[in-house]
This record gives sequence, structure tokens and C-alpha cells, in this order.
Amino acid sequence: MAQHEFDLLIAGAGPAGCTLALNMAAQGLTIGIIEKETFPRKKICGDALSGKVLSVMKRIPGDVYEEFIRDVEKIPSWGIRFIAPSSQELDVPFLLNRKPEHPPPGYVCKRDDFDNFMFAKLQNHPNIHIFQGGHVSEVTSHPEGVVVKTQDHEFRGKVIAGADGVHSVVRKSLLGTRADKKHFCVGIRGYFENVTGLHQENFIELIFLKRLLPGYFWIFPSTGGLVNAGFGMMQPRIIQRRENLSSVFQELISSDPLIAPRFINARPVGKPEAHTLPMGTYHFCRSGNRFLLLGDAAFLVDPFSGEGIGNAMASSEIAASVLKGSFSSNDFSAKKFKAYDARLGQRFSQEFRTMSVMQTLARSSHLFNLVVKKACKNQEVGELLTAMFTSDQARKKLTRPGFYLRLLFR
Ligand SMILES: Cc1cc2nc3c(=O)[nH]c(=O)nc-3n(C[C@H](O)[C@H](O)[C@H](O)COP(=O)(O)OP(=O)(O)OC[C@H]3O[C@@H](n4cnc5c(N)ncnc54)[C@H](O)[C@@H]3O)c2cc1C
Repeated sequence: MAQHEFDLLIAGAGPAGCTLALNMAAQGLTIGIIEKETFPRKKICGDALSGKVLSVMKRIPGDVYEEFIRDVEKIPSWGIRFIAPSSQELDVPFLLNRKPEHPPPGYVCKRDDFDNFMFAKLQNHPNIHIFQGGHVSEVTSHPEGVVVKTQDHEFRGKVIAGADGVHSVVRKSLLGTRADKKHFCVGIRGYFENVTGLHQENFIELIFLKRLLPGYFWIFPSTGGLVNAGFGMMQPRIIQRRENLSSVFQELISSDPLIAPRFINARPVGKPEAHTLPMGTYHFCRSGNRFLLLGDAAFLVDPFSGEGIGNAMASSEIAASVLKGSFSSNDFSAKKFKAYDARLGQRFSQEFRTMSVMQTLARSSHLFNLVVKKACKNQEVGELLTAMFTSDQARKKLTRPGFYLRLLFR
């Protein structure tokens, strides 16, 4: 078995792992990143990159953001089309009074392309050592360091960052805790050609079908004339109703009155595929002696929108700043890493609490219909609905019962 020794070990080279490695690369440390797949690898996703992703990318040392804008194929996102269960539509642009020079607030970019771009950036750094095709199977923490095993390799490091996704082996090995099913959602997505009725400016579409609430069906215009379409459903509901997501998908695109007319001439490109999302409703300690958990491994997906890439990258940015302090004081203790949990809490707790309330409210199709109906007539309500995706203040407002009472009389 080959033996390797690094200062920092990272399990997983998704957005969380790559963002951490790129933020730590200039520290003069040796970094070993272990990834079970071989890039370019496939990733099941809705492919929506929010403003959060772009702002974290801008702060990564080097020209990562500029190169992403210049080199990666993507579709700009200028706004959202909401479709209520009543079928009423509401188009809300992300930017009011948009100027021609304004950069798009977000993008739709195939995850295979985005993740491959981020992964390629690791190769610019001689101190980042990449091990692809290495499935981390066991992690142990000792007073003097961590030991990580794959089939053929043994790695030793001062600390490990678990960025190995929803089924994180780092989390299971070092924490052992299991989340209740209510904190998991399963999302399924497929690519299609010839979907009709897209917004002329390629607004992303969230279609709130009664059958899926509090989840939604999405249609995101993507590159190459394709759309990425899919939906998410909470795991307890899937189990309770014995739902087969592929069959539900097929049923929706062939017979749902809001969706089927758009897919009459559509041709699937590949089969729909599903994957699990770990929601930010699960509260647990995301660090300990010589380890930190990032992104999906740390359950950081937004409980209402299902957005996880930006949160994963934001957690890596926080981890990088905490790890820099740990390397300078040579302290990788659970006590030291409490600062990581505290900063994650400051960054996400309120947002996740609010989005959980939104998730509960969104179970009511009546409430949804009311909000969209009023928003169609009242610009302020429409703007508030969109700001739900971008502003903490707007989210808080939307969770207050008084807001809905006032809406009734507007
Ligand atoms: C259907 C669906 C649609 C979604 N749509 C969106 C969207 O539109 N926008 C959005 O922001 N988010 C979306 N998400 C969520 C988003 O995909 C995740 O939150 C995001 O990928 C988290 O990034 P990560 O780096 O933490 O984990 P991942 O991207 O999962 O990366 C983890 C990496 O670790 C590797 N790995 C796993 N186990 C091991 C192991 N044992 N050893 C070594 N390597 C390992 C994996 O191969 C992978 O490369 C969606 C998710 C699903 C399922």
C-alpha cells in the first residue's frame, strides 16, 4: 500500500473541496485531495449557479472568476418565473433598472462543466497533489494526526476536511451520527431538447405543483439548446407514498396540465437521474479533533430552494480562514474548531430557520396561490418574492403571519 503524508487532506473534489484547496494553496502547505471519481466526472444537479457562487468565486485567489466568465459555457440568469398551483404566472427580474453593463446575477451551467473547470484550477498549484479514483473508505483521528485509507493508498495528515458529499465517509467515520430521514430530499433531473414556452430572456422557472409542495418542478434553460428539468421530494414522503421518482417524472411531463404541453415535442437527452440532498435543517457539530465537514457533508443545502453549491463554497471559505489560524498555532483540536461551527452558525442559522418556515408555509397551495395572485398585481410583493432568493430581510418578512394577513386585504 502506497503511503503519503500531507499537511492538509481533503476528501472530495466537488465545489467544496476545490474551493478549500484553492483558498489554502498559497499558504505554503502540502495539500492532498482524494477524489473517488476521475474527472471529468458526472454530477446530478439543477445546474443553477446563484450570486452566492459568484461572490465566493470572486474571492478565490487568482483569476478563477474571470476565467469562469471568459471560458465556461453557460446561460445568464436574469430572473425567475413563478408558476403557482393555480397556474398563474409571475415573472420577476433579479435586477430592477438593469443597465446594459450589468453582469448577470447568476447562471445556469452544466455541473459537469462547472465542476470540471474548478477541478482543472487545482492543477495550477504544485503543492496540491490530486489522487483520483481513490474512494476514501476509513478515516481515523489520533492525537498526532489523521489517517485516511483508500483501496491502494494510506494518507497521513495534520487535519482532514470532509468535502465528500452527502454520504460523507469522513462524517460517518469521525462522528458516526445519523441524520433522520426528514432532513433528506431526493432530486431528480433530466436534460431535454425542444421544450417550448421558455421565457424570452431565459428566466429560470419554478412551477409549484400541488402534488410536489413544498417542492417544485424546475425548468432551467441550459446550454446547447437543452433544458435541465426536474423536481425534488422530501424523503419521508417518498417512503410514505412509495413514490417512484422516475415514474412521477414521466407522468408529469406526459400528463400534468401545466407541464405536459411544454414537453409535447421534447426529446430526452439521456435518462433522468436522481441524487440525495442533505438539508440545513439538521443541526449537529460539523467539526471535531482534526476534522471539519464542508458542503453537503455538513448538511448545508437550503431547505426551501435546494441550493447547495453556493453554501458549500461559502463553508469552504470559512473553513480556510479557520484552518489558516490552526496551521499558524499548530492547533487542530475540537476546541479550536468550535470557531468553525460558530461561524457557520452566524452565516447560515438564521437563513436556514427562515427557509424551514418557508418550506412549511409552502405546503399550502392556497397560500401559494394567494401570494402569487397578489404579487401579480402588486410590484412590491413580486419583488419580495424574488428577494426571498437573495435577501435575508425579505425571507424574514415572508415568514411572518402578519404579512399574509395584510396580503388578504391588499
Ligand atoms: C437533483 C439535484 C439538483 C440540484 N440542483 C442544484 C442547483 O441547481 N443549484 C445548487 O446550488 N445546488 C443544487 N443541488 C445541490 C448541489 O448539487 C450540492 O449541494 C453540491 O454539489 C454540494 O457540493 P459539495 O462539494 O459539498 O459535494 P459534491 O458536489 O457532492 O462533491 C463531493 C465530491 O466528493 C467525492 N466523494 C464522495 N465520496 C467520496 C469518498 N468516499 N472518497 C473520495 N471522494 C468522495 C464525490 O465524487 C464528489 O466529487 C442539487 C442537488 C441535486 C441532487
